[in-house]
Amino acid sequence: MPATERRIIYCHVDEPGYTTDLDCYVRHGGYEVLRKHIQRKPEELCAEVKDSGVRGRGGAGFPTGMKWGFLDRKSGKPIYLICNADESEPGTFKDRQIIYKDPHQLIEGVVISAYAIQAKMAFIYIRGEMVHGYKILERAIAEARAKNFVGENILGSGYSVEIVMHRGAGCYICGEETGLIESLEGKRGYPRIKPPFFPAVLGLYNCPTIVNNVETLCQVKHVLDMGGKEFAKIGVAGDSGTHIWGVSGHVVRPGYWEIESGKATVRDLLYDFCGGPLPGREFKAIIPGGSSTKVLRVGEKFKVKLTDGSAAEWGVLDIPLDSNSFGLCGSALGTGGMIVMDDTTDMVEALANLNAFYAHESCGQCTPCREGSLWLNKITTRVCAGNGRLEDADLVKNIADQVAGRTICAHGEAIAWPCQSNVPKFKDEWEAKVRAQMQAREHGGAPVPRKGLRLV
Ligand code: SF4
Repeated sequence: MPATERRIIYCHVDEPGYTTDLDCYVRHGGYEVLRKHIQRKPEELCAEVKDSGVRGRGGAGFPTGMKWGFLDRKSGKPIYLICNADESEPGTFKDRQIIYKDPHQLIEGVVISAYAIQAKMAFIYIRGEMVHGYKILERAIAEARAKNFVGENILGSGYSVEIVMHRGAGCYICGEETGLIESLEGKRGYPRIKPPFFPAVLGLYNCPTIVNNVETLCQVKHVLDMGGKEFAKIGVAGDSGTHIWGVSGHVVRPGYWEIESGKATVRDLLYDFCGGPLPGREFKAIIPGGSSTKVLRVGEKFKVKLTDGSAAEWGVLDIPLDSNSFGLCGSALGTGGMIVMDDTTDMVEALANLNAFYAHESCGQCTPCREGSLWLNKITTRVCAGNGRLEDADLVKNIADQVAGRTICAHGEAIAWPCQSNVPKFKDEWEAKVRAQMQAREHGGAPVPRKGLRLV
């Protein structure tokens, strides 16, 4: 039987006749979760979120309830909530569907979460390029404020919170929570060193701050609606709820689908939902959760130990769609933005494309990231320009190994992981490409870079 969706977050996204207006949202039961739960004690709401086991949907997959539990409530400083709507990981386009098509769901999630952690002020930090989303949210916040869902003494509860929109200036690293905080403070978006700058203790204006992703804050609304323990029954142990998968690349039907965690496989996603490969082609590789996660080559096998103690062997297409399973296969679910590549893809060029992006987006604070990303970009660009050397593949892997784990923020890993996975898995392609170039050079041929490739 073909796999099916389970729409919770996207329950009204793309529904005919559903609009972004407040009236429409209210007609569909909107703000009822806020109305009901703002009467409860904030600590009870935090306990529900913890019981639900819901994980953050921004990429790292950290349990939301645990993150909230780290808040320094004893300092006496104001607490802030920041909604991270920077969504800039290549291949990821799930949060913007919520913003574009159901903005009040996000606002309700922000307000009830702000109440649960007793935030004094909430911010939505939105990617600068998403002007359309910014305008939709500005309008929706004004509508919500007019009906007292935002602002002073919300629904007569005695709790007040204002939502402030802030547009970024198009910098990838401002999606990293401490870089985002610096940017929100009006400074250059340099990620901060952790420790001591864990946002839950020393966040915005050095006050306790929670930074949650758009989808995560919407999940909170549904956790409270169902109850934490009921919500925990959706999906699989350790990864409750649904995941929104945004699939791009070489499939018949690219798009987005919301699927219960662990209840379908990569095969279901790529064939049942996306319609399989393009005519006459075969899948070669996937990058499962945004471009920084490690590439998986179709055909490789993973021997895994399951939670019940049994052993299994999976191919890439057999991997269940939950974070634990991708972790067992050496990659990560990340943001759920899956990039699919078929047998027409030149994997060296695919890596060169990513290296160009990550080098451009390094903030330059730490040497391994700043220098390493430039070298990686220079080498892969040179190989793609026809001047490859046989030792380049190992050199790329070696440089990436020196970057990962040695930087202030996870951008170091974002640079390294694509290289560390691509080179060993596609070494045959690297060698074939370089050998062909060497032959061409010997015979005086001038290799021509493929159209669209960015050269340094
Ligand atoms: Fe900046 Fe890169 Fe260091 Fe992150 S890892 S702080 S992006 S230089």
